Amino acid sequence: MTVVIIGGGQAGLQVADSLRAGGHAGTITVIADEPGLPYQRPPLSKDYLAAGSDPSPLPLRAASFFSEKDISLRNGAAAVAVDRAGKSVSLSDGSALPYDHLVFATGAANRALTCPGADLPGVHGLKTLGDAETLHSAFDAARNVVVVGAGFIGLEVAAAARSRGCAVTVLEFAPRPMGRALSPDMGDWFTAAHTGLGVSMRLNEGIGHFEAGPDGRVATAVSTAGARYPADLVVVGIGVVPNDALAAAAGLETGNGIVVDAALRTSDPSILAVGDCASFPSVHTGGRARLESVQNATDQGRHAARTILGTPSPYGDLPWFWSTQGNLRLQIAGLWAPGDETLVVGEPESGKFSILCFRNSRLAAVESVNSPADHMGARKLLAAGRGPSPEEAAAPGFSLKSHARQVSPTPV
Ligand SMILES: Cc1cc2nc3c(=O)[nH]c(=O)nc-3n(C[C@H](O)[C@H](O)[C@H](O)COP(=O)(O)OP(=O)(O)OC[C@H]3O[C@@H](n4cnc5c(N)ncnc54)[C@H](O)[C@@H]3O)c2cc1C
Repeated sequence: MTVVIIGGGQAGLQVADSLRAGGHAGTITVIADEPGLPYQRPPLSKDYLAAGSDPSPLPLRAASFFSEKDISLRNGAAAVAVDRAGKSVSLSDGSALPYDHLVFATGAANRALTCPGADLPGVHGLKTLGDAETLHSAFDAARNVVVVGAGFIGLEVAAAARSRGCAVTVLEFAPRPMGRALSPDMGDWFTAAHTGLGVSMRLNEGIGHFEAGPDGRVATAVSTAGARYPADLVVVGIGVVPNDALAAAAGLETGNGIVVDAALRTSDPSILAVGDCASFPSVHTGGRARLESVQNATDQGRHAARTILGTPSPYGDLPWFWSTQGNLRLQIAGLWAPGDETLVVGEPESGKFSILCFRNSRLAAVESVNSPADHMGARKLLAAGRGPSPEEAAAPGFSLKSHARQVSPTPV
C-alpha cells in the first residue's frame, strides 16, 4: 500500500512517523514544497526572533529519520494536481506519484492585508523560516516596529522586537488581544502586561493605510482612528486561511478547510486531511472546528495513521496550546467560549496564575500564565472530564495540581 502525504510540516511528518511505528510496510512519500529539512514553526516568532546572534531553526525530525524509516522526502517540490480517478498526484517538477492513500497536510497561509500600502517594502508577514530570517535581520536596523494584529503571533513578535531594543506599537481593531481564543479577563491582563514591557497597545484601532518615506519603504502607519505611527518595519499577523485550494480543485468538499469526518477522511475515503488545513467535527465545540496548533497537528497525524492502518477511531483529543511572549508563558487547555464563567486561581499581580472557564458549571478550559503545573493538571482533569465544580475551585487553598492528584494519583 502506497501512501503519499502532501505537506512536510508538523502534521504530515507525524502521519509518516506514526504509519511506520504502526507497522505500515509500504511506500511513504512526503511532498514538501519548502526547501531544506522540515523545521518547527513555533520558535520562529519567539526565541529565533529574540536571539541577538545568528539563530538556527529547530528541525522537526533529524535528517537521519527519513533514511532510517525509509520515508521519501520530496522537498522543494509542490503537489499541483490530484487525479482521483487515476489515484495519482502531479508535482511541480513534472513527475507524478501513484497512491492508495493520500493525505492533505497542507497547513495554512497568512491572511493577506489589503489596505493601501500593504505591499510596500518593509511590510512583512511571518510563516516560514525565510520570513523569520528576513525579520531577524530587519530587527538589527529597525527602530520603530508596528505590529498589525494582537493575536498570538503578533504579540510574540512584539515581545521579541522589544527585547531587540525596538519601540513597538501594536494595532488591533478589537477591544482585546487574542480575543478569539482567550477569556476577556486574560486578554485584559495581557494588555497590561505588554504595556508593562513597553509595548504601545492600541486597541479598538485598526490599520488604515501605510505611507512610504523618500526611499520608497514604509515609514508611517496611519490607523483607522487617523493616528500616525512611525514605522520602519511592519509585521502583519491577522490570522491564516487554510491551504485547501488543491483539495477543492480535486473535487473534495471544502469550507473553511478540507471537510473531514471523525476519522479524518475527506469526502473521498482514500483521501484524508490533517492539521491546520482540516475542518473536523469537534466534540469540544459541538460543531466543525479548524485548529491551528501543534497539538492538533500531531494528534490528528496519529489518528490519520490509525485510519489508514485500518483501525479508525473518532478524533476527540483535548485541544491545548501555548504561546511565549517575552517572559510570559501562556498555556491553554480546552477551548474558551463566549459566555463562560471565569474564576481566578493564584495571584495575577505575581505573574503566576490561572483562569478557570466554566460552561454550565463544568470546567471547559483553563488558561495559565507561568504556571505549568496548573496547565498539566488542567489537561489531565479536562481529558478525564473530571474538573472541579465552581464551588470546589473557589474554596480557599484550591490548587489544580492537587485536585488532579486526588482525582488520579499518577504524577502531574
Ligand atoms: C510563527 C509561528 C508560531 C507558532 N507558534 C505556535 C505555538 O507556540 N504553539 C502552537 O501550538 N502552535 C504554534 N503555531 C502553529 C503551528 O505551527 C501549526 O499549527 C502547525 O505547524 C500546523 O501543522 P501543519 O502540518 O498542519 O501545517 P504546517 O506545519 O504549516 O505544514 C504545512 C506544509 O505544507 C506545505 N504545503 C502546502 N501546500 C503544499 C503543496 N501543494 N505541496 C507541497 N507542500 C505544500 C506548506 O508549505 C507547509 O510547509 C505557530 C505557527 C507559526 C507560523
